[in-house]
Amino acid sequence: MRHLRSCIYLLITLALSLALVSAADAASKKKSPQKTKRPAVVKQEPPPPPPPAQVLELKHWSTPDYTRVAVSLDRDVTWKSYELDKGSAGKPGRIVIDIQNSQLGAAIRDITIGDGLVKGVRVALFRAGVVRVVLDTDQIIDYKIFPLSDPSKLIIDVRGERPTEISRLESGLTNLVNAASAAELPKPAEHREATKPRPSQKQHPAIAKVRRIVVDPGHGGHDPGAVGQSGLQEKEVVLSIGLKLRKKLQDELGLDVVMTRSTDVFIPLEERTAIANKVGADLFVSIHANAAPNRNASGIETYYLNLAKTEKVAQLAAKENGTSLEKVSTLQAILFDLMANYKLNDSAHLAEEVQKALYKTIKGRHNDTKSLGVKQGPFYVLVGATMPSILVETAFISNSAEEAHLQDPAFHDLAADGILDGIRGYIASLN
Ligand SMILES: [Zn+2]
Repeated sequence: MRHLRSCIYLLITLALSLALVSAADAASKKKSPQKTKRPAVVKQEPPPPPPPAQVLELKHWSTPDYTRVAVSLDRDVTWKSYELDKGSAGKPGRIVIDIQNSQLGAAIRDITIGDGLVKGVRVALFRAGVVRVVLDTDQIIDYKIFPLSDPSKLIIDVRGERPTEISRLESGLTNLVNAASAAELPKPAEHREATKPRPSQKQHPAIAKVRRIVVDPGHGGHDPGAVGQSGLQEKEVVLSIGLKLRKKLQDELGLDVVMTRSTDVFIPLEERTAIANKVGADLFVSIHANAAPNRNASGIETYYLNLAKTEKVAQLAAKENGTSLEKVSTLQAILFDLMANYKLNDSAHLAEEVQKALYKTIKGRHNDTKSLGVKQGPFYVLVGATMPSILVETAFISNSAEEAHLQDPAFHDLAADGILDGIRGYIASLN
């Protein structure tokens, strides 16, 4: 009996301790997820969805070769595009672009173009979160879309057979330039004067191949470009060189010169090339001052449009494009598509002539100057140019010795002389 009682006692004790253990276990199970769960929850929290991009404005430029449409946005976007009704010649079509995660800005309006390639551009909310941009086109051959950053834009270049007569187009172009940009077109009287071949030009058919040049001083307005240690701004230096170059090209080569800017104003990159195409320029020269993280870097280099071959070049392109390295690689991925009408060989040739002459001229005064040679890079300002076009880095503003040169108007004159000689050499070589 005693034995039985102690047995029961033992069983009760055992049952109780089992119950306690399982309760404790349950409690610890309840507790432990809280301990381990907290960091897991933080990891799994999805990032807040980016606010929709505002579609702010439509702009356009009609050039002899293509029509460029710019869609301004308040942030970078992704998009889908396709062509509708691309039929036989003469049949109108549509290019449709659906901008993802976007909404209409308050001031956006449709635009009428009517230049023989694009009738106009319409914009509307297609469905919640998707703005649809539609280009109503005439007889188009192809079109390209590429993004720009800071400020964010989508650029649409439309090519085709323009039925418009040249004379009508030219007067239209003058109006467009006057209305749409700060670029300077020669006044009609000056224009006739400047393009009328001089007696000496008649004897040199090569001169006639190059009659009009667009000189593009980089940056301007709110974009200072690279800034030297003393505070010298690239935009001031390159404007001074560009204005001197204009005078020399007019006086010494009798060429017609159009400046993308002749004052301290901001001109978007896509507009600079559009200006060159619009005025039917034969050459395009963009003038810059270089900058590098390594303050010892110095010398002269000249670029034409192509993929960057080194990280350094990609970094410079990011700087000149006013964008990030990541965006440069996006551009590189679509660059070949954008280069269909780029005069690659002629641009390389122009770059060689300008680099050689600029180096020779500057070295004549500054013996320690280095030639870094002709290079290739993905510069937005050259994208879409249909004439030989280059970007010249005259010196490093980030190098204190070269910054001192760049501060001196006599150096601006020297640089302009060097670029002039290069252009002269290029024209002579066309014989
Ligand atoms: Zn620059």
